[in-house]
Amino acid sequence: MGMEDYPRNIMEFEKRFNSEQECRKYLFKLRWPDGFKCPNCSHEKAWETGRGLHHCAKCGFETSVTAGTIFQSTRKPLRLWFRAIWYVTNQKYGISALGLQRALGIGSYHTAWEWLYRLRHAMVRPGRDRISGIIEVDETYIGGKKPGKRGRGAGGKILVIVATQIDGNRIGRIRLKRVTDASGNSLKKAIREMVEPGSTVRTDGWDGYSQLESVGYIHEIVREKSNVGKNLLPECSIVASLLKRWLLGTHQGRALYLDYYLDEFTFRFNRRTSISRGKLFFRLVQQALMIDPVHAKNLVS
Ligand SMILES: [Zn+2]
Repeated sequence: MGMEDYPRNIMEFEKRFNSEQECRKYLFKLRWPDGFKCPNCSHEKAWETGRGLHHCAKCGFETSVTAGTIFQSTRKPLRLWFRAIWYVTNQKYGISALGLQRALGIGSYHTAWEWLYRLRHAMVRPGRDRISGIIEVDETYIGGKKPGKRGRGAGGKILVIVATQIDGNRIGRIRLKRVTDASGNSLKKAIREMVEPGSTVRTDGWDGYSQLESVGYIHEIVREKSNVGKNLLPECSIVASLLKRWLLGTHQGRALYLDYYLDEFTFRFNRRTSISRGKLFFRLVQQALMIDPVHAKNLVS
């Protein structure tokens, strides 16, 4: 199997993932591309038990390909999970729990909701890289009608920092982050999480950005005037308006799970030029295997 092996369309998908065994085989190759390695003793030989576990030939430790991933301890078939991922990655504007429930014929709304929650987690690649190069940064308010006052609280609105990579004439990758306010400390912290040091960060003249040089960025003020929540720098403005439209269309603008929606939007936006939807499927399965399970008890209900 090559590094990027995925079904190219629904026909290939249906044909390929028609059994639990085929799904497990696919997960196995993504999780252990260089072959199995026992998590207990690093031995490389194992046999598969009737229940689909990998039994280490040396120490007898048994593990499954789904242990420690979002698929862990699921009672539903992997085939259904694969269909959920295929469905999620093939919807251009994202989906709701109800949409997923209907599309898959899952009996319980809660299950659909939890799956979506887990998949959104998977969309944020663990330890994902920061964007670098020339980055435009601005901030926007979500959920409010009027712009608020910068540096103070957002007055019931949610402040989101938009970081946009400038890739020649086009927008490269983005990062989005919710912050409590537009103070120097909040902005500095958010930007350090999103942008690689050494990058050039372009902002407006807002004082909150004045500490960027001190933490290793090349800071360019490209507009002296600063105006909170509106009149964004051009590339950030495009991203912010797409984000808001998407939030309204897909999630009815609900702010409760905004952090997850920001992650979902970022995942979709950064892969918007992927010609193949199958590749999105591949990435999401890959990322679903990389993270710790999200247990139901951690869910906000
Ligand atoms: Zn072992």
